[in-house]
Amino acid sequence: YTGKTGTELLGEKVKNITVRHYQSRPIVVQESSSVYDAICTMFLEDVGTLFVTDKQTTLVGVLSRKDLLRASLGKQALESIPVSIIMTRMPNITVCKEDDLIIEVAKKLINKQIDGLPIVQDVDYGSGYEVIGRITKTNITSLLVDLANEETI
Ligand code: ADP
Repeated sequence: YTGKTGTELLGEKVKNITVRHYQSRPIVVQESSSVYDAICTMFLEDVGTLFVTDKQTTLVGVLSRKDLLRASLGKQALESIPVSIIMTRMPNITVCKEDDLIIEVAKKLINKQIDGLPIVQDVDYGSGYEVIGRITKTNITSLLVDLANEETI
C-alpha cells in the first residue's frame, strides 16, 4: 500500500499523459485560399480552428471562427479576400509537440484564451513547423471523461 490519496494518484496519472494520446486530425488551408473557401472548409470539416500553410506545407497562420466572422462584417466580397490578411500569423502562434504533456497544453489554452493548438514538428528543410495534428478543448474534455471512468493509459 503506497499511502497515496486518490487525488495524488490522479495527479500522477495526468502528469504522464501526452498530446500523442489525445489528438485530432488537423484541417489545413493554403494561405492563398479565400475567406469564402475557409468558411466552407470550416463547415464541411466541422472544426472551429483551421491552420494555414504555405506551398511547402509550413505553418504560417491560424484561423478561428471569430476571425472569419469579423472578416464577414465588411462590405468586401469574401471570395476576394485571401486568408493570409486576416489570420493570426507566425511567430504569434502557440504550438505544441506530440511529446508535450496534456496538462501543459491545457495551461496554454487557458493563458492564451484560445480553443486549440496545432501539434507540430520541425521541418527537415530550413526553419519552421509542419502541422501533424490538432488538440482542442474537446480532446481535453474526453480525457476528463476517461479519467472519471479510469480508462486512461
Ligand atoms: P474564437 O476567436 O472563434 O473564439 P479562439 O478563442 O480559438 O476562437 O481564437 C481567438 C483568437 O486567437 C483568434 O484571433 C485566433 O486566430 C487566435 N488563435 C487561435 N488559436 C491560436 C493559437 N494556437 N496560437 C495563436 N493564436 C491563436
